[in-house]
Amino acid sequence: MVLNYYFDAASIIAFVMLIAMVVSTKHIMDYKFRVLCYLTAVSCLIPILDILRTYVIDNRMSVVLVYVVNMLFFLVHATVTFLFLMYVISQVEMSETRSLIRKVLLYVPLAICTVLIVITPFFSTVFYYSVETGYVTGPLYFLTSLVPTLYFTWAIIYTIRKRHVLSRSFIIMISLVAIVNVATIICQLIWPEVIVRSFTISMSAFVMYFFEEHGRVAIEEDTNLVGKEYLLEVGTRMARNNYPFSIILIRITNFDALSDTFGHENTKALSRNIAAYVGNQFRLGRCFRISESTIAILNTEIDKTDELTRRLYDELSDSWNIEGLDISCDILMTYINCPKDTDDAENMSALIRHFNRMERTAGGVIDIDELHINEHIRIKLVENAIERGLRNNSFQVFYQPIHSLEDDTFMTAEALVRLTDPELGSISPAEFIPIAENNGTVVAIGNYVLETVCQFIADNDMEELGLRYIELNLSVIQCLQKDFIENVDNIVNKYNIDPKYLCLEVTETASNYSPTVFKRNLETLGEKGYSLALDDFGTGYANIERMVTSDFRIVKFDKEMTQYSSSEERLQNVFEKLQNVIHSMDSKVVAEGVETKEQYDYLKKIGCDYIQGYYFSKPVPKDEFVEFIKANN
Ligand code: C2E
Ligand code: MG
Ligand code: MG
Repeated sequence: MVLNYYFDAASIIAFVMLIAMVVSTKHIMDYKFRVLCYLTAVSCLIPILDILRTYVIDNRMSVVLVYVVNMLFFLVHATVTFLFLMYVISQVEMSETRSLIRKVLLYVPLAICTVLIVITPFFSTVFYYSVETGYVTGPLYFLTSLVPTLYFTWAIIYTIRKRHVLSRSFIIMISLVAIVNVATIICQLIWPEVIVRSFTISMSAFVMYFFEEHGRVAIEEDTNLVGKEYLLEVGTRMARNNYPFSIILIRITNFDALSDTFGHENTKALSRNIAAYVGNQFRLGRCFRISESTIAILNTEIDKTDELTRRLYDELSDSWNIEGLDISCDILMTYINCPKDTDDAENMSALIRHFNRMERTAGGVIDIDELHINEHIRIKLVENAIERGLRNNSFQVFYQPIHSLEDDTFMTAEALVRLTDPELGSISPAEFIPIAENNGTVVAIGNYVLETVCQFIADNDMEELGLRYIELNLSVIQCLQKDFIENVDNIVNKYNIDPKYLCLEVTETASNYSPTVFKRNLETLGEKGYSLALDDFGTGYANIERMVTSDFRIVKFDKEMTQYSSSEERLQNVFEKLQNVIHSMDSKVVAEGVETKEQYDYLKKIGCDYIQGYYFSKPVPKDEFVEFIKANN
């Protein structure tokens, strides 16, 4: 049989190219990539040994040489499939397995195979060779194929079992590699003269390399830092495998102030110098860029975390010479112990984000508790509850009657959203609305409330009930949407409702975000016939000027203000004066949070217009509200 070595030669060239590529690019040598490198390095021996093996046998060369080459050939074959399995496992696990049973199962077949190969010259286990007889296979020859088959099958089963944890692209890639390799083995049986096996292996190595290269995160040339996505990827994998580690966070807190003083370029250079200083102390792939001013270190020596943090703090807090300027900066540091503090990627990311944005200019080493980890976890849970609520339509609208002192009737009500979650129970809008504002879901919630209120108005005869309109709360985020007015109009028109039945409450802080858009939107609403109310007046920073210049028919005094002023004399004075100003602008005053007879009497005495509070009724579901109104009006 004349053997054809073209494919072997081609695969040698392919391997040389692959090795050159690996060596010439900066790579994070994590476990996964290390295993791939070993796999490539060992695989590249296959075509060489393939050629050598037939050459030395065919040319009846010295016995020692034939034995050495053949033994190496068998060893390499077994090791390659072993490394292939390790590579597949490394996609899920962080490092070599720590379970003893698994270790034994993994290494024993390879060890047996190796022993059989090593003792071949003495016991002819795998093959026998002499110049006279030539090459003859031994009784345990079959094991040299059985062991690779075993590893290969294991890799396939592992991929199938872990399909939920593995990425889709990895599964597709590895399936292709497996199919092509099996097909090659079959071809080899049919056409033994064309040795295509090593070529397939080299191409598989190429595919795996490009797969890893594709998912590779960028490495900053001058600082050796890598992106934060990689930190989360590795962090999640380590936490999932219960591998303890800590994330040390470093931030230049006065970055913006330094930018103003020394210029952005100099400050960026300072930040890069610090990053490079830190980046060069650790292995590539251990330091991460979070933002211009923040970096993170993944540390696996957890018992040294505190010591390391304090040492770095002392070193970094020194002054840095940038372009001849001595710049000293405020360094803020903390560390997260995983999985003790958190083992969840989203929490990790929330903590890092929060540290990066923390309103603090002074430096120091702070405790992780100062990042209010439980708050983040709660926020995450509430976010999930909001998603569930929107998906399952489990938001509700309650109504709280508002009493008119002048007419002695309940002439309006405030619509208030409610959320009861199967996992968290009832969640207050005071908690979930700000969270919904942060992630944008408040727009969907607001639309739901508006629809429900419109439905209520359409279903009931407002005049007969003695109701003039229903008040509902608008969030800042809603008011600033591009299609806000159009959206309100669409919903209101869908139920064929006169805008006069709706009073939209906004809070005063809303105008801080984008005063022009906000004012313009409110004006448009006013022109269309909606009434507007200023909610929570008296909380935070009240801008009287803005209140006076906007067209609010109603001003709602916040419950704290109401409750204090009915008991504290000095506040009473302010309350009454403000009420007079509002009346002089032809607007009405609603006092929120009225709970007692004394409060009610006081407000009545000073001529307040409307009263809202538990004194009359808590917010109640629609039917209960209608009953209440029918009974009282
Ligand atoms: P708000 O608009 O100032 O609503 C008044 C809040 O005071 C309501 O709380 C109401 O239940 C409560 N309240 C009424 N009378 C009394 C009383 O006598 N004593 C006490 N202690 N509290 C009283 P709730 O329903 O928990 O809502 C809290 C806040 O959540 C609302 O404050 C509003 O800012 C926001 N919110 C509620 N529903 C919506 C909504 O549909 N959309 C938006 N964007 N925000 C909403
Ligand atoms: Mg309100
Ligand atoms: Mg209010």
